Order: sequence, then structure tokens, then C-alpha cells
Amino acid sequence: MIRPAVAYTLIAAAANVVGAAAVASRSRWSVPALEKMIALSAGFMVSVALLDLAPEAIDQHGAAAGGLILGGFLLVHLTQHTLVPHFHFGEEVHEVTRAVSMSALVGLLLHTFVDGVAIASGFEVRPSLGLLVFVAILLHKLPEGLAISSIFLASGASRARALLAGASLGIATILGAVFTEMSEPLSRYGLGLATGVSLYVGASNLVPEFQAKRDWKLQGSFFGGCALYVVARFLIGKYT
Ligand SMILES: [Zn+2]
Ligand SMILES: [Zn+2]
Repeated sequence: MIRPAVAYTLIAAAANVVGAAAVASRSRWSVPALEKMIALSAGFMVSVALLDLAPEAIDQHGAAAGGLILGGFLLVHLTQHTLVPHFHFGEEVHEVTRAVSMSALVGLLLHTFVDGVAIASGFEVRPSLGLLVFVAILLHKLPEGLAISSIFLASGASRARALLAGASLGIATILGAVFTEMSEPLSRYGLGLATGVSLYVGASNLVPEFQAKRDWKLQGSFFGGCALYVVARFLIGKYT
């Protein structure tokens, strides 16, 4: 039987493929809708990190949780920015080299692996937390698939390869959940690391995509994402 954490991760992984397919098939999503989705998922992601993941990590490790959270935070910066010449969420609108697209993929593979770790670690604490982490991750999975697929296309890759890149992110997510269930160190430290990763993805990958835009709908979507998280947290806590 597939465990719930892995089953939910499969759904999140599928969203990576859907995001990639949306770009690869050239079906023009409305860009404003995508931007709002990025803002909404940023609010949701920052909220899950600060309201639930960080307190749980501190419960598990005490003050040492701070080191794990910082470690996760720095790990994303290192693998998606320091070691990678060019990467951002949102559609790639200029040409990039193949080396840029490949390095962006490697960085995102690590990030998506931790997405899976986060879902499984959440479920290990309690199903209601696992569900909240799942929703937070699901919301940014479409923009994530879209980002990798569009960077591949911008580097001159075929649509099939762009789709494959999205699918590989999905596979890394599933592996993250499976390994967390099998490996002792990952299941012990995964939640703390995932806290730092979620905080970085929300605040430093997604927020910069819209922070300079003076569009009240976009800005409202960010705060709306935080509010939605609080409502989801209340409902999921009540019915699980
Ligand atoms: Zn770019
Ligand atoms: Zn992700």
C-alpha cells in the first residue's frame, strides 16, 4: 500500500509536469494569472514555514533547530544561485545557454527533493501538518515546472526535453518523500532543513518575482496567500 505522504507527493510531482507541459505545449496561460499564483504561493509558503514548520523543528531539536533552518536556507541559495549563473521563477523570456539550463535543473532537483522531504516530514509529525505542507508545495509546483520548462526552451531544447526536465523535478520530489520514510537521518533532520528551504523558496525565490510591481491585485494575492494559509490551517485542524 502506498503511504499517504508518498501518495500526496505523487500529486505534487504531477503538478511539476503540468506546469512544464503548459509551457512546452505553448498553450498561453494568462501571465497575470501565473503572477498571482506565484504571489499566493509565496504567502502560503512563508506562512507554513513560520507558523508551523519552525515551531515543530524547535520542538524536535530545541535551539539547535536554528542551525538546521539556516542550513536549509543557505543550501537553496548555494545550489540555485551561487553555483548557478542564472535562475528565477516565472517564465524565461530571454535566450540562455545550455549550461545555464542544465545547472538550473541540477539546482532545482535538489530543491524539489527537499519538497518531498518536507511533505514526508510533515506527515511524520501529524497528518494535518503533512496536508498543509502538501498544499503549500502543490501551489508552487506549477510555477516551478513552468520555470524549468521555459528555461529549457529558452536554451534551444526541444519541447520533449523541456517536458522531461519538468518530469525529472517530479521524480526528485517523490524520491525525497520515499528517502525520508526510509532514512533515519533524513527523517530526523528533514523538518528543520525543510523549514529553511520553504522560507527561502517563499521569501527569496517567489517574493522577488512580484515585490517591485505596483499592482494591488498582485500584492493582495501575497497577503491573501497568508490569510488562506490561516484558514486552511483552521479547517484542516478541525476536520482531521
Ligand atoms: Zn531569465
Ligand atoms: Zn519546490
